Amino acid sequence: MGKIISFPVGAQHVYPGPLGAVPTVARTADSKYSFVASPSPRFSSLPQRFLQSSSALYQKYALTLALLCAISLSSAFALPPASSTKSLQVYFIDVEGGQATLFVTPAGQSLLIDTGWPGNNNRDADRIVAAAHDAGINKIDFVLITHYHDDHVGGAPQLASSIPIGAFIDHGENRETTDDITQQRWLAYQQLLSSGKYQHITVKPGDILPVHGIRVTVISSDGALIEKPLPGAGQPDPACANSTQPPEDKTENPRSVGTLITFAKLKILDLGDLTSDKEHQLMCPVNKIGKVDIYIASHHGFNQSGSAVFVHAIAPRIAIVDNGATKGGSPSALDILKSSPNLQTLWQLHFSEEAGPTHNTAEEFIANPPGPDAANYLKLTANPDGTFAVFNSRTKQSKQYSRSPTP
Ligand SMILES: [Zn+2]
Repeated sequence: MGKIISFPVGAQHVYPGPLGAVPTVARTADSKYSFVASPSPRFSSLPQRFLQSSSALYQKYALTLALLCAISLSSAFALPPASSTKSLQVYFIDVEGGQATLFVTPAGQSLLIDTGWPGNNNRDADRIVAAAHDAGINKIDFVLITHYHDDHVGGAPQLASSIPIGAFIDHGENRETTDDITQQRWLAYQQLLSSGKYQHITVKPGDILPVHGIRVTVISSDGALIEKPLPGAGQPDPACANSTQPPEDKTENPRSVGTLITFAKLKILDLGDLTSDKEHQLMCPVNKIGKVDIYIASHHGFNQSGSAVFVHAIAPRIAIVDNGATKGGSPSALDILKSSPNLQTLWQLHFSEEAGPTHNTAEEFIANPPGPDAANYLKLTANPDGTFAVFNSRTKQSKQYSRSPTP
């Protein structure tokens, strides 16, 4: 298992990047210090071991801003309680079968999972920026790259030219160097990182990301998985008896950085394009994740992921598929989602042409039905009391959900 991303006192680095808030520190049992909620909207810091660029500029600012931080922190207790009534906003941006999921927390921080495709006249970057502006932010604090396929990291350079970004998070090296496009996108991403403008965090299973306002636990990274069940999980999965371990997938997909995002008691699972071989290891013999409320369907609803032994054990209350019209949304994967025991609603970014009317969800839950693409998005609003709603930007309708019946 990993750790809360933390740093020892005295090693705090502060930099004048475009991030949101200054993490304050709290003592933990291992005499390290972990982040807690923060009052300042201006600056941010990350652990020393993750600072890839220790330029003279940073060093200079570290001294100057340490004083500002001290002032800011000392005034924290005079501020109202941190946004206790505000909601978490999650935008499921239509990047035509790639992924771009933007979380904006009540603490004012933002986490973008993946950047969509490159090219297309800046299409995906523009759509991500539009969502950010809709959420009232002008920067993205953390961009998490699940893996190095075209539809996930491809849009990173264009996005970085379109909006300030604080830090990139990823699983480390490209493991599919034999694929030319993947290697090209990886190199373009490395060039972006080498500019020295961004913090760079490489994560391991069990790490807790330093995003304020939500708890982001890393489930998978670079092919490794959490070894022990999460708190409250660990129940045997009866479906394992009739399921065999799928063969190992050799692409970047099973290397995906997967995360469980917790807000109040709401659990949101995003595993990027993690494949069924890893799903089996996460569920058999025991379910290491437990049940979730919202499942961002792995791999755009392709049937190399989203196996029944996995989906029916995490038993989401809703699932959201970031498929395109002709990418993802396999008939069998949609059927597995719809037959999941607790599922109330299946949402899709697009009508899947392959799945046809039999397997797609009802039209009211589809952001982009057949026809000219309108870049409609879905938006989840989660409240601190555990209730949540999903908004379809095409229909302008929201569907409300009660708090989870499970403790
Ligand atoms: Zn993908």
